[in-house]
Amino acid sequence: MSHAIVSLHQVSKGFNDGDKYHQVLAGINLSINPADTVALTGPSGSGKSTLLNIIGGFEFIKQGQLLLNGSDTANWQDKQWSQFRRQHLGVVFQQFNLLTPLNVRDNIAFSLRLNQQAWSPWCDYLLSQLGLDEVKSRNVETLSGGQQQRVAIARALAHKPSLLLADEPTGNLDEKAGKQVMALLTQLAQESQTSILMVTHSNECAAFMQRRWHLEQGLIHE
Ligand code: ADP
Ligand code: MG
Repeated sequence: MSHAIVSLHQVSKGFNDGDKYHQVLAGINLSINPADTVALTGPSGSGKSTLLNIIGGFEFIKQGQLLLNGSDTANWQDKQWSQFRRQHLGVVFQQFNLLTPLNVRDNIAFSLRLNQQAWSPWCDYLLSQLGLDEVKSRNVETLSGGQQQRVAIARALAHKPSLLLADEPTGNLDEKAGKQVMALLTQLAQESQTSILMVTHSNECAAFMQRRWHLEQGLIHE
């Protein structure tokens, strides 16, 4: 039996804002299947990052159901969450979040070690496809923004996760670098059979994904 990688049923989420409650997600239903690539758009503050944070287990829900690989996360403890992240999840954010005292190769190797995995030929392939071979011994601080985001992509895909969560991954790049990063991200995710859920403001970036979701007033419109 094959499962959706992610499914949400009637998921609501809000935050206390002083003495008021601010509802952000209002009964979301969605699923992401293997090999799906999804662009998520929506106004600023509509809850796009909150949705990604819920799926990655960085925020928790009290209403609704979140299933990951067919397993209900309601009773997951830290152990199950870290196992899911180690084996199945890659993340790329707008800020590259690299370890600045380290070089390119060590940034990826460090993250692999956290995921309890070893360097593999796939990692060398990622470096070469992402145009990072020449700079792999350089401190990441000395690289351009586009190069740093490509390091973040290599790091996110190094363990061939089943799901990549990307939150405005090209938000800090100029248009040319952004498009280049998108093309590589899409190609490599396809090769590692990684599904993508990507927040973006750019129609050009969204065009790289097969599906489009728009989040507005707490609901998703496909
Ligand atoms: P988007 O990514 O679409 O711009 P966010 O998911 O970041 O939107 O935020 C949605 C709303 O939820 C915003 O009003 C934001 O202020 C609020 N919010 C998000 N995270 C928190 C939090 N941890 N505590 C309180 N409010 C939050
Ligand atoms: Mg956001």
